[in-house]
Amino acid sequence: MTSPIPTVRWAPSPTGRIHLGNARPALLNWFFARRHGGRYVLRMDDTDVARSTRESADGIERDLAWLGITPDLLVRQSERLELYDVARDRLIASGRLYPCYETEEELDRKRARARLLNKPPIYDRAALNLTAEDRARFEAEGRKPHWRFKLDGRPVHFKDLIKGPQTVNTASMSDPVLVREDGTYLYTLCSVVDDIDLGITHVIRGEDHVSNTGTQIEIFEALGAEAPVFGHHNLLTDADGQGFSKRLGSQSISDFRDEGYEPMAVAIMASLTGTSLPIEAYETLDEIANRLDFSMISHGAARFDPAELDSLNARLLHVLPYEGASARLSALGLEGEAMWLLLRENLRKFHEIAEWSRLVTGPIEPVIADEDRDFLALAKALLPPEPWDETTWSQWTEAIKAATGRKGKALFLPLRLALTGRHDGPELKSLLPLAGRKACLDRLP
Ligand code: GLU
Repeated sequence: MTSPIPTVRWAPSPTGRIHLGNARPALLNWFFARRHGGRYVLRMDDTDVARSTRESADGIERDLAWLGITPDLLVRQSERLELYDVARDRLIASGRLYPCYETEEELDRKRARARLLNKPPIYDRAALNLTAEDRARFEAEGRKPHWRFKLDGRPVHFKDLIKGPQTVNTASMSDPVLVREDGTYLYTLCSVVDDIDLGITHVIRGEDHVSNTGTQIEIFEALGAEAPVFGHHNLLTDADGQGFSKRLGSQSISDFRDEGYEPMAVAIMASLTGTSLPIEAYETLDEIANRLDFSMISHGAARFDPAELDSLNARLLHVLPYEGASARLSALGLEGEAMWLLLRENLRKFHEIAEWSRLVTGPIEPVIADEDRDFLALAKALLPPEPWDETTWSQWTEAIKAATGRKGKALFLPLRLALTGRHDGPELKSLLPLAGRKACLDRLP
């Protein structure tokens, strides 16, 4: 038998904008698929109709595309209900799914009682002992059942792709509810049914799902399927060690986009924080996919550092080739490879190029101190004739030096302030031929 194509999925719940913590599994799954020549499924976990919206789902698709990920397939759980019906019936027929009639209040009371007796608040399976008459009575009262999966209650072992051998003891868990009173399905079941149906070979997700995996492995087996390989990655936290969460209103991926961050900077930080692969200015996601072995994902927390994002963003721009910048420059009404190569190393965000480009095209506001006015007027008279090239600056400044006796900072700084209006910036020897003689004449008094 040939082995199946490695197939992964990223399964966000479309209940809001995604944040860095969500982008992490999105990217790690993508790296895995790219590294192994596999397939990537985007699965919208939208069975919670009260909280899921199409708008969020569309936003997630856009954010994913912005990060550079193009799924091979998009599925929505809300469109796959028949599959869950079949699985439900199968589990009922095999006695693994059983109806329960307790209300929330009754369950609360049971849990409170268990706590008083110092017992873990695990569901007592009372519903397993209901007779047909009991059930008929509940139904006659208008109660509708919710359905629980009967766990084996045993140590479930699996070999985690990232964390190594793991054991989850389902004996210490409540039988999970898979079908609500209103007949809608919970994620725990739908996820397994989809993973089987879509041929998912590897489930890569956050370590907050480890105990879920114990339950789901039992459901895979109860449905007669082989469980996929699981890999649980460490979770991204903010600088204070707090988890990212939609509810806490963390910065979303679209906020980063709106603030002018490079998608690669966001992708690199979301995926490589908390790994031993250095955070560097990788040009493409494939470069990371080829380098990142899952054994490099650390077992401790992954602390996101916003200052590192800023510095990485700048580093990416400082090496961005003209081919990568030209379309974006055109969108700002700018062009010119020499201009880009001269100015890129000053950028923290791409849009700042509009401001910097005025050093070449003008207008700029020259900064001229009163005591330098005569000096600059003399310098103006000494400006060499065109054509200009990279040697023009030294010819000119040598001439000024000879005429005025100024040197060092006293010579260069007033020229820089007049020609650029600022203390920092690109090398003047490169700026001069780009700006041209006319612009320089205009900037000198
Ligand atoms: N919708 C689930 C979540 O966002 C998916 C978890 C999984 O990957 O199975 O947590």
